[in-house]
Amino acid sequence: MNGIFETDVAYLKGVGPQKAELLNKELQIFNYADLVSHFPFRYEDRSTFYKVSQLNPNLPHVQVIGRLGKIESQGLGRKRRLVAQFADETGTMELTWFKGIQWVAKKLKPSAYYVAFGKPALYGRKYSMAHPELELLTQKENEKKALQPIYPTTEKLRGKFLDSKGLSRIIANLLPIVLSQIPETLPLSIRARYGLIDKAIAIRNIHFPADELQMQKASFRLKFEEFFYLQLRLLRMKLSRIEKFKGQVLQDTQLLTHFYNTHLPFALTNAQKRVIKEIYADLKSGKQMNRLIQGDVGSGKTIVAFICLLVAIGSGAQTCMMAPTEILATQHFEGLKHFAKKMGLSIGLLTGSTKKSVRTKLHQALATGHLKILIGTHALLEDIVVFENLGLAIIDEQHRFGVAQRAKLWAKNKAFIPHVLVMTATPIPRTLAMTLYGDLDISVIDELPSGRKAIQTVHRYDKDRLRVFGFLRKEIQQGRQVYLVYPLIEESEKSDLKNLMDGYESVCRAFPEFPIGILHGNMKAADKEYEMGRFAKGETKILVATTVIEVGVNVPNATVMVIENAERFGLSQLHQLRGRVGRGASQSYCILMSKYELSKDSRVRLETMVRTNNGFEIADVDLKLRGPGDLAGTQQSGLMDLTIADLSKDAPILSRAREAALDLLQGDAELTLPENACVKEQIKRQKKGALNWSRIS
Ligand code: ADP
Ligand code: MG
Repeated sequence: MNGIFETDVAYLKGVGPQKAELLNKELQIFNYADLVSHFPFRYEDRSTFYKVSQLNPNLPHVQVIGRLGKIESQGLGRKRRLVAQFADETGTMELTWFKGIQWVAKKLKPSAYYVAFGKPALYGRKYSMAHPELELLTQKENEKKALQPIYPTTEKLRGKFLDSKGLSRIIANLLPIVLSQIPETLPLSIRARYGLIDKAIAIRNIHFPADELQMQKASFRLKFEEFFYLQLRLLRMKLSRIEKFKGQVLQDTQLLTHFYNTHLPFALTNAQKRVIKEIYADLKSGKQMNRLIQGDVGSGKTIVAFICLLVAIGSGAQTCMMAPTEILATQHFEGLKHFAKKMGLSIGLLTGSTKKSVRTKLHQALATGHLKILIGTHALLEDIVVFENLGLAIIDEQHRFGVAQRAKLWAKNKAFIPHVLVMTATPIPRTLAMTLYGDLDISVIDELPSGRKAIQTVHRYDKDRLRVFGFLRKEIQQGRQVYLVYPLIEESEKSDLKNLMDGYESVCRAFPEFPIGILHGNMKAADKEYEMGRFAKGETKILVATTVIEVGVNVPNATVMVIENAERFGLSQLHQLRGRVGRGASQSYCILMSKYELSKDSRVRLETMVRTNNGFEIADVDLKLRGPGDLAGTQQSGLMDLTIADLSKDAPILSRAREAALDLLQGDAELTLPENACVKEQIKRQKKGALNWSRIS
């Protein structure tokens, strides 16, 4: 396309080879396209001037016009500072310097009028600004100035006069050269509908907005575009897959109806019913399903999965369900075994520790089609595991599985790619889910089974331990069970393991009257299973464990979750752990133990846990604290490439951009309409991807 954008920055007025080399190294800015898309990350308001009497300590950086009065050096040694009186007609403030005093003192012109820019602070009854930016007041300065862009830069660049101001200067040189060449990348219909300004104007105004409104509009336009193309890519991927892959038609409901009428132990929630209908519609559609079920812990995903399995099996297909850990796979197996038995269906368990003889039998039963339900860990992805006709694969707790593993599942049926249902309890805000799993359809179970009592969560300090233990004793005496969890971030970390062992010993000393179990990742699979089994059967009353119990474990009689060093856990992890209780009819509790001194973020995390049980609300806070980069899957989804949009703040823009992308594809999937030509062009440019073109456009 247009060569101008590929021009080396060295050729730009005010740059030259030396600065260009630094720009390459420090900011990965090589050409005009890179520079024009080096956006400011904030703006300073130079359009308003404050009077001294209007100052208050909560203001950000502001500017004041005044006249320099007395200038004197105060204090001695390290406390020495330069203080200048600075007055307007409403009052007097002080300007102070702690460094470069002599240099500043020489430059200041007593009695001259200046514009001082800085953050006002109140000392005693007087306002002062430390190290203000000072400019002599000229007529020009006195006119209203626009918002000033503040650019990301580095120490080295500053040394070469490419501080924020310097960058702003060279960008100002660049804009007149490139603005007229910037192609429009969004069709008029979309721009009109969403109130988006032209691309070239947006680029100009993101750098040099006349006012707040211009800046907002520019930023909205550019963020929208960024999300729009991300969504478009994901949606096109999904569409092409739907066209490419036919799905086995699975629509027989006989088994399901029988189960529903005779064996279902409770009434389904409306959310569960809705999600089952959505899945059923997919299964019988003739297209291959790729669907994500999002449901908070305890929302009842397992039974939904089982009912879907029945549709598949009733229609002559085999099914499998994959879990991230052996404990969880075993638990699913145990849970579903008895339903399967009632329905006369064969069910098997395959994990890393399944014995060879059992394994061989399983393989045979699978290959002949006799085995209808296979539960397991990633062991069931191995090539040796061959199904006669795998129709539906369910993946529990998706965040532990990668895309490559999903693909391995697909390969398990040569005639028809199996339908895939992914279940996750990691509550992620819907907007984020739309992007992370943009190529999946999403169902949400947003309702807990009735009769559940909300888990009561409290935060206690280590000094409260005696009281906490007293509470545990009372609960256990009433027949309940307790989890006591220690952080073990890396299973190999010795100090953590020691913590756990010390904790175990002190719990044993504190509760000599109760049987106590211990569970951690370093144990052999068989031992883990044994301990989990003892706890599930109620033989042990307290289970001292690491986060190996984080996902999925279901012991309804356990009503208390104590989390030690709770400040060391992330929010979503705390929420998952808490989800291990509150699974039965009795009141459940979660006790977060921490030391007294907490970082600000830790405090927010613990307060959030105490305040709410709502996984989505928690996920929102988590997103704000950590940013989307930390969430599993962001790497693959292209979220990391966002240059201006920010998922944690711009969710509403994302929704609209996705809607626009969807509409566009529904109206013109092949992008053949003339008015959508610009989208086609842009996709081509992004594919070419060379020279960071995608960043500007
Ligand atoms: P999760 O969504 O966290 O995987 P589970 O599927 O383990 O949740 O279900 C949690 C508990 O709730 C299980 O004991 C399950 O039997 C029960 N349950 C599921 N659906 C319902 C319902 N509609 N009514 C009552 N209990 C239910
Ligand atoms: Mg589960």
